[in-house]
Amino acid sequence: MKFAEFTDRHKAFRDEVRGFAKKELLDESTQIDRKGEFPWHIINKIKERGWLGVPFPEKYGGLGLDATSYIILVEEIARVCASTAIMIAAHVSLACQPIYANGTEEQKEKYLVPLSRGEKIGSFGLTEPNAGSDAGGTETTAKLIGDKWLINGTKRFITNGHVADVIVFTASQDREKKTHGISAFIVEKGTKGFEAGKEEDKMGLRGSITSELHFEDCELPKENLLGKEYEGFKVFMETLDGGRISIGVLALGIAQGALDYGIEYAREYSLNGKPLYKYQWVQKIIADAATEIMAARHLIYHAANLKDRGEKRVTEEGAMAKLYASEVSTRVCSKIQSILGKDGLTKKYPLERFLRDTKLMEIGEGTSEIQRLVISRQIFGR
Ligand SMILES: Cc1cc2nc3c(=O)[nH]c(=O)nc-3n(C[C@H](O)[C@H](O)[C@H](O)COP(=O)(O)OP(=O)(O)OC[C@H]3O[C@@H](n4cnc5c(N)ncnc54)[C@H](O)[C@@H]3O)c2cc1C
Repeated sequence: MKFAEFTDRHKAFRDEVRGFAKKELLDESTQIDRKGEFPWHIINKIKERGWLGVPFPEKYGGLGLDATSYIILVEEIARVCASTAIMIAAHVSLACQPIYANGTEEQKEKYLVPLSRGEKIGSFGLTEPNAGSDAGGTETTAKLIGDKWLINGTKRFITNGHVADVIVFTASQDREKKTHGISAFIVEKGTKGFEAGKEEDKMGLRGSITSELHFEDCELPKENLLGKEYEGFKVFMETLDGGRISIGVLALGIAQGALDYGIEYAREYSLNGKPLYKYQWVQKIIADAATEIMAARHLIYHAANLKDRGEKRVTEEGAMAKLYASEVSTRVCSKIQSILGKDGLTKKYPLERFLRDTKLMEIGEGTSEIQRLVISRQIFGR
């Protein structure tokens, strides 16, 4: 599908990723879901191509492309395998991006360079047992004692959790201050007092890792503070501005994958001797899905384009893109599944996987209700 604002470079990159997804991932995606195992073999191939550092400058180990190219990457991968796409999204937009935007030169050298090159895997720990939509409820604590931070607490539902080597996370220096008491930090796998815990057994995205992270009297060097003290809320709010475009494009990719399949199926199969695509009810499902997907694509690439221009924050545009694309994707996957009738519920076809995978898009990085709050606050002010 075409998008008017793509440059020749974007189109070439899209074709390259699309070719890779078809050749290396299409046949694997069902197995990745069934086995529920992190697809290391695919990630290694993605890493070899430099795609775990697409939007970062070459001096920080990246490919030096733009946010739009990164969004293209996630869309094309999600179209075939959402488990692989969310791994990339968490790594790039939630782990690398806050280090790129807020890190010192030393932190960029030490963490961003190996992350961008794919030598290390990243993740982002914000959510806790009692802090999801309301990050002000963060119970993980950070105390500066001498030249060390002492960290205690638990994070939950962290994508890439136990495979991550570098984790950006939030902790409160002063719980009375709620969001204004939060700071952001970087911890490395293997640090004493830090370990990944239970892995979630999820309905969808079963090839991606989602785990707990535990800090028990974990000592971090003073220089592992990311950004300024008490500005962790700002760090992750800015991170989520971009992260929401990532989740939106994941939803878009899944919806497009479902539509691709629906079109193929409607062409190939007949009902009562008449090709499915000749039925008006099938045409309506396909036409509505294609229209909604196109609208979602415009919202998403508009937000990515604004991010590339860097003239303003993309809080509103990112929230709108995620809200709309995630709800469209759930609707599209469900409607396309119905074209297959009872067969759509079986594991013989990928539609049931698309439907299971896309549900997260309405939840992660802020639920649809929270996106509506974000958008209305932009409109009315706080
Ligand atoms: C597969 C997966 C991967 C994830 N990966 C990560 C990750 O890498 N890092 C990370 O930090 N987190 C991650 N999360 C957590 C995710 O970001 C949270 O689930 C999300 O922010 C919602 O928080 P919650 O689930 O605690 O819901 P809650 O905050 O408990 O909300 C429950 C319900 O109440 C509604 N609600 C809450 N507050 C309001 C309000 N003020 N107004 C209206 N409705 C409200 C919500 O919309 C929701 O329907 C992941 C989650 C999943 C499922």
